[in-house]
Amino acid sequence: MISSWNPSPVTRTVIVGAGIVGAALADQLATRRAGDVVLIDRSRPGLGTSRTSFGWLNANKKLPRTYFDFSVEAMRDWSRLAREFGEPSWYQPVGNLAWARSLRAREELAERVDRLQAWGYGAEIVTASRAQRLEPNVTIPSDAEIAFFADEGYVCGCQAAQALVQRATSRGAKLITDAEVRELVVSHNRVTGVRLANGELIAAETVVCCAGWRSPELLAPLGIDLALTASTPGAGTRGLTVTIDGITPRPDRVIHTPELDLRPKGEHRLLLEAYDIDTQVDIIRANYHLRERAQELLIRAGMLVPGAGSATIAEASPCVRPLPLDGHPLVGPVSHQHGLYIAVTHSGITLAPTLARHIALELLDTESPILRHYRPDRTSSGNPDLGPDEGSY
Ligand SMILES: Cc1cc2nc3c(=O)[nH]c(=O)nc-3n(C[C@H](O)[C@H](O)[C@H](O)COP(=O)(O)OP(=O)(O)OC[C@H]3O[C@@H](n4cnc5c(N)ncnc54)[C@H](O)[C@@H]3O)c2cc1C
Repeated sequence: MISSWNPSPVTRTVIVGAGIVGAALADQLATRRAGDVVLIDRSRPGLGTSRTSFGWLNANKKLPRTYFDFSVEAMRDWSRLAREFGEPSWYQPVGNLAWARSLRAREELAERVDRLQAWGYGAEIVTASRAQRLEPNVTIPSDAEIAFFADEGYVCGCQAAQALVQRATSRGAKLITDAEVRELVVSHNRVTGVRLANGELIAAETVVCCAGWRSPELLAPLGIDLALTASTPGAGTRGLTVTIDGITPRPDRVIHTPELDLRPKGEHRLLLEAYDIDTQVDIIRANYHLRERAQELLIRAGMLVPGAGSATIAEASPCVRPLPLDGHPLVGPVSHQHGLYIAVTHSGITLAPTLARHIALELLDTESPILRHYRPDRTSSGNPDLGPDEGSY
C-alpha cells in the first residue's frame, strides 16, 4: 500500500464510525462547511472503544519528539474545545499523580520527568507529603518515587463524542445510526461510496474510515492490509476497564500506580484499569473470567483508596484497542484507492481533536506536514523516524 497526496474536490464525505475520531472529524468538517458530511455508525455515537477507554489525556510517554508535540497540541485543542462547549463535565484537566517502586521504574520515572521538564511539559517529582496534600483521598506510599503532571487529566470519550456529533449535526452533518457499513464500493480504482447492511448505497466523493479496531475487516476486501495489531486474544489489544460505585470520598485526579490506574467517573465512581489485568483479558471466554478480573481490580482499589472499602462493581467493560503495530496513528489517503482516507489510532481520546483538524485540512486540499509522519503505508515501507510508542496510552 502506498499513500500519496491526491485528494478530490470534496462535495460529500462519508465518515464510517462515530467514535471519538469520527465524531471530531464530522464536527470539524461541518464547522468548515466542507460539503455534505454523512456520519454512519453500526451502533450509536461514542459506544465503541471510546466509551470504555481509560481516557487519560496526556503526552507523558509519547516519543519521538514529533509525536510528543502532536499530543501536546491535542491537549491544547481539548482545552479550546472545552471552552467552546462551556467547560463540560466530560473534560477534566485534573492532573495526574504517578508513582514507581522498583529501582528500574523509579529511574525511568525520574528520567522521564527530566525529559518532560526540558520539553516544557508540566512534570515534577514531589514528596509523599506533597502528594498526600494533592490527593488526600488516596493512600500515598512513603517509599516510592512520585511525580505530578499538572496539565494532564481525562476526557470521557463517550460523552465527548456525543457532544461533538450533536454540534456537527446542528451544523448540517447527517447522522445515520444502527447502520453497519458492509462494503466500501469501488469503481475504477476509486471508492465511490459505501453499502449498508440493509443494501442501501450511499455515494461519496470521499469515504473516511474511522471504524477503530474493526477497520481491517472493512479494508481487507480492497487489498489493504492495515498495520494494526490483531484484535485476537493474546495480541495485546484487549483491555478491561471497571467502574466502581459508592466511593466516599473519592480521589479527584488521575492516579497511576504499579498495581492500578484509576480516575474519577462521576460523583462517587472511579474507573479502574491495570496493565497486568489487561494482558489477561480474553473476551471470547467472557463472563467468569471477567468477573474474576474485575473483582481483583476492586480489591486493589480498596487497598489504595480508603473510601472504596465498601464500593461495588457497577460495570466491567472488556474492550479492544485499535493498536497500530508501531503504536502511532495510521492516517491518510491510499494511492491505489482514490476516494478513501484512513484514520485509525491508539491514544485516540487524546489525539482526536488535533487529528480531526489536520484531516479536515487535508480533505480540503492542504497536506498536513504533521500527518505526513503517520501515513498508513509506513510500516511496510519502513519509517526510521518512528520508534515504538513505549507508552501504552
Ligand atoms: C482499555 C483502553 C484504555 C485506553 N486508554 C486510553 C487513554 O488513557 N488515553 C487515550 O488517549 N486513549 C486510550 N485508549 C485508546 C482510545 O480509547 C482509542 O484510541 C479511541 O477510543 C479510538 O477511537 P475511534 O473513534 O477510532 O474508535 P471507536 O471509539 O471504537 O469508534 C469506532 C466506531 O466505528 C463504528 N464502526 C465500526 N465498524 C463499523 C462499520 N462497519 N459500520 C459502521 N460503523 C462501524 C463503531 O460502532 C464505533 O462506534 C484506550 C483504549 C482502551 C481499549
